[in-house]
Amino acid sequence: MSDVRGRDERVLIVGAGIGGLVLALELHDAGIPCRVYEAVPEIRPLGVGVNILPHASRVLCQLGLEDPLTRASVTTRESVFFNRFGQLIYREPSGRYAGYDHPQFSIHRGDLQRVLLDAVRERLGADAVVLDHRCTGVTQDDRVAQVRFRSSSTGETLPAVAADVVVAGDGIHSAVRAQLHPNEGPPRYSGINMWRGTTVGQPILTGASMVRAGWLDRGKMVIYPIRDNVDGRGNQLINWVAEIETPRHVERDWGRPGRLEDFIGAFEDWHFDWLDVPAMLRGAEQVLEYPMVDQDPLDRWTFGRVTLLGDAAHPMVPRGSNGAGQAILDARALRHSLSTIDDPQAALQAYEKRRLPVTTQVVRTNRSTPPDVIIREVWERTGDQPFERIEDVISRAELEAISRRYKEIAGFAPEALRTGD
Ligand SMILES: Cc1cc2nc3c(=O)[nH]c(=O)nc-3n(C[C@H](O)[C@H](O)[C@H](O)COP(=O)(O)OP(=O)(O)OC[C@H]3O[C@@H](n4cnc5c(N)ncnc54)[C@H](O)[C@@H]3O)c2cc1C
Repeated sequence: MSDVRGRDERVLIVGAGIGGLVLALELHDAGIPCRVYEAVPEIRPLGVGVNILPHASRVLCQLGLEDPLTRASVTTRESVFFNRFGQLIYREPSGRYAGYDHPQFSIHRGDLQRVLLDAVRERLGADAVVLDHRCTGVTQDDRVAQVRFRSSSTGETLPAVAADVVVAGDGIHSAVRAQLHPNEGPPRYSGINMWRGTTVGQPILTGASMVRAGWLDRGKMVIYPIRDNVDGRGNQLINWVAEIETPRHVERDWGRPGRLEDFIGAFEDWHFDWLDVPAMLRGAEQVLEYPMVDQDPLDRWTFGRVTLLGDAAHPMVPRGSNGAGQAILDARALRHSLSTIDDPQAALQAYEKRRLPVTTQVVRTNRSTPPDVIIREVWERTGDQPFERIEDVISRAELEAISRRYKEIAGFAPEALRTGD
């Protein structure tokens, strides 16, 4: 018996993460058959918070997901920046509150994945996502590509599956990327380690504020709510990330547990009138540790009938809330290419041509000048001391210019969203 099931799929998507599932919904919407093959035997709500900014929420809303996402998330009202003394540096509205046509969602990654998975199963069918299929490699000739799989639960080799097109959305440890780029070096550590967690607590500021506070030399925090009223008493699930410059770091693993005592010392005196940070940290339900790493941008993602998408294509440091967003934009662009260009290889080339330069710039900008450089600017100008009046340190116009520059590069400047497809 042949170990190949025949030319089974038009488009085979490796990985039922955020990018892979959005691609399935996009292709289905365009009438292109596809199926998703996922390594894990069961999809569980792993991870903590992610933000979906208006360039990506536009795609999800156009896919008809605004209502389930609104129910599962907190619709972000504002982005606020503080120094380590809890003094306000800058605040600006977010999503629809900033005049965009679409909202910003702050959401648990597991909730986002569940909303997408439910939609895929409902629209494409219960068998549209095949679990327990870990991709171990891809081969191809000029007619077809073949994907090899192993069962994650038993370790046995599974029948290979043939497809016209293979899209690898298999995340930071992508097996397909490793095969296509065998000489790539290890991830690049940024010098910043992160501890991430969630705490049930009272709403902070507006109850829908994304807070960034302090600078990395002593410790910076990113804090935002991701679920409303989790206990019927108005408490929220608050997502937080502590970021500290240190040579100490572990290998990247989204599920690695972290220890409070390794980082809480940096925030012990952060008792602000708007939040008691050490109390929030001590109340954590879970703590995870993750190094801030990325990889140098690749010069190509597409090899014949095979291409990369999302973190498999462009892993980036999480400094601009853009990891999930750029994966979603990849999915939209790939749908566009596959539905307008008949030849699959030419379609993948067109997709790469459109998305590789843009995401390369986002990877590099997240390294050098992410949105939180607003805090660095004030940290430098004040010598890391409290200020009397922020206007004496930096003008509102300068702060707005920093914020606008990142939006332009990452593709969510309001003008771009009004004109883009
Ligand atoms: C378990 C987990 C937890 C995460 N937690 C967070 C978080 O808390 N905050 C955050 O900002 N980002 C988190 N991320 C990453 C975030 O989802 C991505 O940065 C972003 O959404 C881009 O999505 P993606 O689809 O490219 O990759 P991912 O969302 O990472 O999805 C990749 C998918 O591919 C599957 N996969 C991997 N290898 C194979 C293989 N060989 N064969 C088949 N399938 C494979 C994975 O199981 C996963 O479902 C997490 C990712 C994972 C997998």
